[in-house]
Amino acid sequence: MNFYSLNKQAPNVDFEYAAVHGQAPDKGLYFPERIPLLSESFLKNIIHKSKVEIGVEVMSPYTSGSIPQDVLEQIVSETVDFDFPLVDIDEHIASLELFHGPTMAFKDVGARFMSRCLGYFNRNKAGKTTVLVATSGDTGGAVANGFLGVEGVDVVILYPKGKVSPIQELQLTTCGQNIKALEIDGVFDDCQAIVKQAFMDEELNKKMVLTSANSINIARWLPQQLYYFFAYQQWIQKNEDAPIVCVPSGNFGNICAGILANASGLPIKHFLAATNINDEIPKYFSTGKYAPQKAVATISNAMDVGDPSNFVRVLEIFQNDFPVLKDKVSSVSVSDEDTKETIREVYSRTNYILDPHGAVAYKALSDFQKNHQGKGYILETAHPVKFPDVVEEVIGKKIPIPEKAQYLLNKKKEAVGLAADFNTVKSWLMGNA
Ligand SMILES: *Cc1c(COP(=O)(O)O)cnc(C)c1O
Repeated sequence: MNFYSLNKQAPNVDFEYAAVHGQAPDKGLYFPERIPLLSESFLKNIIHKSKVEIGVEVMSPYTSGSIPQDVLEQIVSETVDFDFPLVDIDEHIASLELFHGPTMAFKDVGARFMSRCLGYFNRNKAGKTTVLVATSGDTGGAVANGFLGVEGVDVVILYPKGKVSPIQELQLTTCGQNIKALEIDGVFDDCQAIVKQAFMDEELNKKMVLTSANSINIARWLPQQLYYFFAYQQWIQKNEDAPIVCVPSGNFGNICAGILANASGLPIKHFLAATNINDEIPKYFSTGKYAPQKAVATISNAMDVGDPSNFVRVLEIFQNDFPVLKDKVSSVSVSDEDTKETIREVYSRTNYILDPHGAVAYKALSDFQKNHQGKGYILETAHPVKFPDVVEEVIGKKIPIPEKAQYLLNKKKEAVGLAADFNTVKSWLMGNA
């Protein structure tokens, strides 16, 4: 399969090129030349398929020509070797728990898949590739864990000092080996700006092969389709009608993967994109006008995005047909106050502990169901223990650290503290990476 740039000013490329380069030379996002259609028999028999069989079936049209089938099978089996349970919260809403991976957030799936693709593409190359990534918390941990020990790839993570939770910081800073963490004395936007400048810097790019690992990369975006299929396997055992699916959204990569799966034939009745008060997309849905904003800090901080990069891909799937888009997708914004109230209310009624991102989705979906028939599920994108300040205060109880994360507590943070200044980071990269 080939991929074209949504800016339409760059040549079409194969999966390998798009995964290695991230963005097209005209700064556009890559998009598949055609959307594969799944066979009816595949969907009919999905209940009997393993996660790996589903993964290979869904991903192979995209990777064909770049990754042989047996290698894809290996990559998929390493990517999805944990559980994706669909758990009932109450009668109307279930939770697709995407936090059973190594760093307890859904980004593990994309990061693992991408890292193994890059490892494969680098197999015969002498030089190294350096993955440079800015994080507000979850991306960094997932990328660090996904790329740990991958031959020929170094990872440099920039994170804002004092702005990530203790577990997130340990996940970023304790890997060692080919993973280095830079603790930047600034905010997330500073980290992101430095990374963007690095990709444009001629001298740096002469010295090293730089690539990004954010959600615009097709090797991170496309495998996120898989858990919508895993959810469907579980959904049809209890329900006749297709679900309403609510996705807590920031950069809109996750929901866009679900919409793509639906365009390939996966039954989903309606999508609800839930945002926090960074509400440029809900505003777009109500006015038809898109106006990017400066991101505002909230308690669901992985969604603090003022200009979601993947939304252009959503528009492309609907071929920019606004009425068709609105028929399939809705979008609403949820305040911090309502998010906390939702965590409290759901916990006291059902004992289920939502994280702030899942709570945004729960609130959006339960409000939506007041005017629309149908059951649905939310994507629970991270484990609540990653956001202890908010969740423990609201439910008045400590959240135990899951066993598989306990090992982090005995590890020692290793990070290089640097000023939020491009030239400072650049000279560190020139000397160290
Ligand atoms: C990254 C993230 C999101 C937002 O996902 P997008 O694909 O950027 O829309 C939501 N919740 C959590 C916990 C995240 O880490």
